[in-house]
Amino acid sequence: MVVKSELRSLSRHEIRRKLEAADTATLLLALVEMTGDTTLLARWGRHIEGPTPETSTFPAAIAEEIRDRVTAVLTSSAAPASDPLQDPLVFHRLADTVAGRPVTETERDLVLKEMGLLEEAFVDWRSGRPSRADTFPVVIIGAGLSAIAIAIHLKRMAIPFTILDRNTDVGGTWLVNTYPGCGVDIASHYFSYSFARNPGWTRYYAKQPEILAYVRDCVQEFGLTEHLQLGTTVHSAVFDEDSAQWVLRVAAGGEVRTVRARAVVSGVGSLSVPSVPALEGQERFAGKAFHSAEWDPEVDLAGKRVVLVGNGASANQIGPAIAPHVSSLTVLQRSPQWINGVAGYHSNVPMDERWVLANIPAYERWFRVRTMMSMNDIMRPAALVDPDWDGPEGTINAANQKLRERLVRYMSDELGEKQELLAQLLPSYPPMMKRMLRDNGWCRMFRRANTELVTGAAAAFTERGLVDEHGVEHEADVVIFATGFRTARQLSSFEVVGRDGVTLRDAWGEEDPRAYLGIVVPQFPNMFILYGPNTNVGVGGSIFFQAEAQSGFIARMIRDMIERDVATAEVRQDVFEDYNSRMDAELEKLIWSLPVGSTWYRNSKGRVTANMPWTSTDYWDMTRTASMDVFDVRYVAPDPATDFDAAVSESDDDLNRELEGDVTHA
Ligand code: NAP
Repeated sequence: MVVKSELRSLSRHEIRRKLEAADTATLLLALVEMTGDTTLLARWGRHIEGPTPETSTFPAAIAEEIRDRVTAVLTSSAAPASDPLQDPLVFHRLADTVAGRPVTETERDLVLKEMGLLEEAFVDWRSGRPSRADTFPVVIIGAGLSAIAIAIHLKRMAIPFTILDRNTDVGGTWLVNTYPGCGVDIASHYFSYSFARNPGWTRYYAKQPEILAYVRDCVQEFGLTEHLQLGTTVHSAVFDEDSAQWVLRVAAGGEVRTVRARAVVSGVGSLSVPSVPALEGQERFAGKAFHSAEWDPEVDLAGKRVVLVGNGASANQIGPAIAPHVSSLTVLQRSPQWINGVAGYHSNVPMDERWVLANIPAYERWFRVRTMMSMNDIMRPAALVDPDWDGPEGTINAANQKLRERLVRYMSDELGEKQELLAQLLPSYPPMMKRMLRDNGWCRMFRRANTELVTGAAAAFTERGLVDEHGVEHEADVVIFATGFRTARQLSSFEVVGRDGVTLRDAWGEEDPRAYLGIVVPQFPNMFILYGPNTNVGVGGSIFFQAEAQSGFIARMIRDMIERDVATAEVRQDVFEDYNSRMDAELEKLIWSLPVGSTWYRNSKGRVTANMPWTSTDYWDMTRTASMDVFDVRYVAPDPATDFDAAVSESDDDLNRELEGDVTHA
């Protein structure tokens, strides 16, 4: 249940001292889990009004008593009679307490899932693995964190699969983005798989190297290495009706091959194709220029004049990280951004708290749940448009107005003596329209004498630097484009051809992607998309949460296909349309649908293509309750003549000749 043996090597005094670093609310929940004593909740539970640290305040004497009691339990030699979490009464009381309100049954299941204790979260065969699974190879495109989630499911079920990634290592966006200051702005303890939690994060908000190390560890731990084909670029995926197979053209090491699979899962994500403005005269520029996701490690910025284009999440991390080292930093902001200061964002997790997390599993579990609850949908109230709102310009409801006022105060305080920049830094659009930025020291950066804030888009290169839209030249040795990604043109890095020769571009146009649950698209049978259309979280959540919801759905569908001998499963048109019209109606209620400001959440026509309107809990519930009924299925078994062993891949001489040009650029 609870106590790890290494606890035994510490004295009572040492354990008690380490508990000083622990969060009291989480300790209380852990204590009740360890003892099953719900009377403790009756006595002290009222001090937990919600999952965020600000919502629980314990008088010092009670906090002391909780620590003493936890110490006593940890140092007691008596083994617990049973696991209190198995007692519904204890568990329900705990779940209600952690939320600070009565929770629904779905939320209870979610709490269990986040603790890694919900059995249904691990998709399994209904009655043993059918041998047919051997002839159902799956190809996963991409080796980022979403892709790894489905790979882990397939591995557990011993379904043959191959992971293709053009990069030479795993990690996806966390491999590619290596710019200074790169890190996550979701709390670390929620930025991991619920079934592979990491108690050892060194920071409350981890930096890129630690996240990449975590992803690599998962690949090792779950035995995925043997399934990887790295340095392999997918050029196209074409569905072959006769064999019910996807036929992929892939290039690796100068050779083009064909890979066939019964199902394809795209894990390429939405933030992988850099968007760089096409500016005249780049060939004239004598310095270096590159995108934030294509950081040039050879360039030493020390003492250089740098122009940083953009002020989104990437720029917000890059600017403050490089400002102390460069001779000058000029920021070109096209439109201002709201910036939020977050407690603990820059802090290390104290060693003693790491010890508590690593050695008291009950504490670690409730810490995870509290972190999840303090992130999921936390900003939703400020993003819901109040149709009757009559408040100040640049606000959409009362919560939004309050948020705006807090952000103005925060940004003003951060600017210090540079108040003359405040008007230039403050957006006129309401907060939550764009992705809220967690502050990396952006406003403070402009207190430095070597920084300059320019409002205006980048317009052209000169030999000496960059000209902004007002015709002003900014001299530079290095230009950094933190200008984001081609988000609306999803799955653009390879061609996808579905049933009857229909391409994904036919179905979606250039930038109008739609899917059922963001995962499956009519006319593209046996194809699944991770982090697809309208699955981005805009009001607080975690991409790991989304990846788990989506990969759980995909794993169940693939299992059912194999168990029922389904050749093809294609989402029903009526299901797809119904989902999308409900989604459009929900999106109308949210701030991103207002035609205000620019955001990558919308396409150029103004439709929200990136964000989902549902709460995280609702979306998870939709993915876990959806069944094969949403599909049109065909049971025709594939022609044995075209049947194949796992992940068949053939060298294709014709394709090699045809794609020779592509390979050079792969
Ligand atoms: P982004 O949020 O799309 O920001 C791009 C920036 O470039 C915007 O400020 C945009 O201005 C500006 N821009 C585009 N073209 C321009 C031009 N011609 N001249 C001047 N400015 C121009 O991209 P990002 O910062 O790379 O972030 C993308 C997403 O990645 C984030 O929203 C987040 O989901 C993720 N991310 C997360 C983290 C984190 O966890 N901390 C860090 C980095 C990225 P406008 O605002 O006017 O359009």
